Amino acid sequence: MIGRPAQAWRRFATGALVATVSRPAFAQVPQPVPAIERGTLPNDWAVGESGCVGAMEVRVQDYNENFVILRQSGCTNFEKPFLYLIFGEQKALLVDTGAPGANVGNAVKEVMHRWSTRHEGRTLPLVVVHSHGHGDHTAGDGQLLGTDVTVVPATLERIQQFFGIGRWPGEVATYDLGGRIIDVIPIPGHQVASVAYYDRRTGILLTGDTMYPGRLYIRDAAAFIQSVRRLVDFTSTRIITHVLGAHIENSRTPYVDYAEGTKYQPAEHPLELGRAHLLELQDGLAQMGARVERRVLRDFTIWPIQP
Ligand SMILES: [Zn+2]
Ligand SMILES: [Zn+2]
Repeated sequence: MIGRPAQAWRRFATGALVATVSRPAFAQVPQPVPAIERGTLPNDWAVGESGCVGAMEVRVQDYNENFVILRQSGCTNFEKPFLYLIFGEQKALLVDTGAPGANVGNAVKEVMHRWSTRHEGRTLPLVVVHSHGHGDHTAGDGQLLGTDVTVVPATLERIQQFFGIGRWPGEVATYDLGGRIIDVIPIPGHQVASVAYYDRRTGILLTGDTMYPGRLYIRDAAAFIQSVRRLVDFTSTRIITHVLGAHIENSRTPYVDYAEGTKYQPAEHPLELGRAHLLELQDGLAQMGARVERRVLRDFTIWPIQP
């Protein structure tokens, strides 16, 4: 609403009813700004053009200087996954290592090096975790092995052990990067070892293949429904700036996706979703009851498949 000076009706001595303008009765007060670190997302995520000649393997995009997004080129793998590198005071955390076909390890090391030169030569140990255990998110694990690197394999046992999650999937763990807490939320359903990560600093929720603008493949419907419910509950009391997943498969045209295997998506949907999409997903699932069926929604598709 646009703030306007309040208009008041005044009755003058003559008895005439005259409208007068008084000073603003309800001047607009500044909007309270949530205590989160800001960043920017690009208008598109193009990596290489349709010909793929000379295209870069991985695009590096700063959300801000301590939150970096990497997108693997469709020229290297049609999955075109997104990876996230988050810097704390004491550690850096990489979520996912990409699909086969690119040297993701080199791209990550370059970003680590760039951070170091911007911070008086400081180097941070790198911890590598995953949104889940599928091969299009773990292929670069071997490229990252090295000193000061911890790669946590994307298996249920190792994830539970590393984050100290005793009660899977009901327990939310926290992981401290040094002045930067990440909440670790088990969300099985797309895959047994699916995990969401919430960065309290930026308010970004990383949802892997469980929530993104594309085909949400569901292998365990009962687990998936519970996981979405937990994400809705979790986000009900937090600031959620963006819900960022691991792929884009939808186009900018509502209800339309690109066919599986598409390398080049010139009019793809924005990466960023919000909490409203989680509510829409939960609502869509609730309407189906126990029998989950394929349903195309505006920005994503619910897509059950055999385990
Ligand atoms: Zn997956
Ligand atoms: Zn995937």
